[in-house]
Amino acid sequence: MNPPATGGFLCYNYIMSKLEDIVSLCKRRGFIFPGSDVYGGMAGTWDFGPLGVSLKRKIMQEWWSFWVDQRDNMYGVDAAIIMNPKTWEASGHVATFNDPLVECKECRGRFRADKLVDGYGEGITDEEFLAAGAKCPTCGKQNWSEIRKFNMMFQTHIGPVSDDEHIAYLRPETAQGIFTNFKNVVDTIYPNLPFGIAQQGKAFRNEISPRDFILRDRECSQMEIEYFVKPDTWEAEFEKLRAEQHEFLEQVIGLPKEMIHEYDVPAEDRAHYSKRTIDFMFDYPNGEEELMGLAYRTDFDLSNIQENSGKSMEYRDKNTGESFVPHVIEPSIGVERLILAVLSAAYHEEELEGGDKRTVLKLPENLAPYKYCVSPLLKNKPELVAKAKEVFEILKQKYTFVTWDDSGNIGKRYRKQDEIGTPKCVVVDFESLENDDVTVRDRDTTEQVRVKVREI
Ligand SMILES: [Zn+2]
Repeated sequence: MNPPATGGFLCYNYIMSKLEDIVSLCKRRGFIFPGSDVYGGMAGTWDFGPLGVSLKRKIMQEWWSFWVDQRDNMYGVDAAIIMNPKTWEASGHVATFNDPLVECKECRGRFRADKLVDGYGEGITDEEFLAAGAKCPTCGKQNWSEIRKFNMMFQTHIGPVSDDEHIAYLRPETAQGIFTNFKNVVDTIYPNLPFGIAQQGKAFRNEISPRDFILRDRECSQMEIEYFVKPDTWEAEFEKLRAEQHEFLEQVIGLPKEMIHEYDVPAEDRAHYSKRTIDFMFDYPNGEEELMGLAYRTDFDLSNIQENSGKSMEYRDKNTGESFVPHVIEPSIGVERLILAVLSAAYHEEELEGGDKRTVLKLPENLAPYKYCVSPLLKNKPELVAKAKEVFEILKQKYTFVTWDDSGNIGKRYRKQDEIGTPKCVVVDFESLENDDVTVRDRDTTEQVRVKVREI
């Protein structure tokens, strides 16, 4: 997290406060609420409100359309969240999906050891941690327990008996629901290599200290693809997927190119089986953070399943008759991370002529909760209201995502629609009754033009 090179300290402060501004707008306008708000909240959980769920669904639908519906070698699955616990033993999650936990012996506060000191990752040792001299963020003392490996999977029990034999986990990723269905898809669809299996759904991580709004939460939604390839073609396929990730993020979702940075993960930081991983980083308000990952995972997952289940995961090439375990490339993205990237890029505070300020979400038209807002210039003139209702019905039929607003004065309505990112506001006035035309105001330029109703 570095301040921008030229902006200086003030600029950094501005950027720091921007996340709070986005959180505040999200709550005020019905995008995202703290989870279980009415009972005082639940750390690391967030609820999507009427506008947030619309944005979220549009983003998920665009992803599904781009990666699955528009291709002839991509297949969807929707696997159960609770899977046989053998899944997580085979995948390595039971043994290694850990965070380093330390406890303050004075106040009993619990923290992630690597987050209390600079420059260390999850593998931090007791010696390294103590040498760094971290003080408890709560009480300021330096009386620490030893570091304990804390498994981040949420545990539950299957059936009425709560003993160790009945432990199950809420899935920490959607990927394993894809791998475990590899053979089912091959045996029912008979796809040629390369082909992909895609899944969207909830995943759970018991983060020790959730933070940064929806960036690090305990319950999130993922969109993952496992793309199966012939082992000797992985590099070419990896490059194709890499280019397509940029196309998706920049053309379909509309994120500014200059806010996305590729980080080629060096060998010592990659999972041992991965020969190449690129993290796609994004300039979030609080600094650069991972937005999505693209990883070449060799045959690690399928071979593990083969070994642990005793069932063959080999694929038989229809042309050559050759049998082998395919290799896999995994593009993986968190929905909430993408939503926060979209909101961060869209959020603007602007000064208008005459010194007025406005907050505007410059959301791409395909993601905005509403495309149009229709309103009568005055709400106490029945003839204007009737005409506006007529226009509303026409546009609703045509564009679906159309809202009605007759609250406050016209200026207040514009401010509200700017804040929720509605690209166009349509206003019906007395001239509309004569000429069947309306004023259409553009969100980004605030320019107003006269348009015939049938031409909208
Ligand atoms: Zn303490």
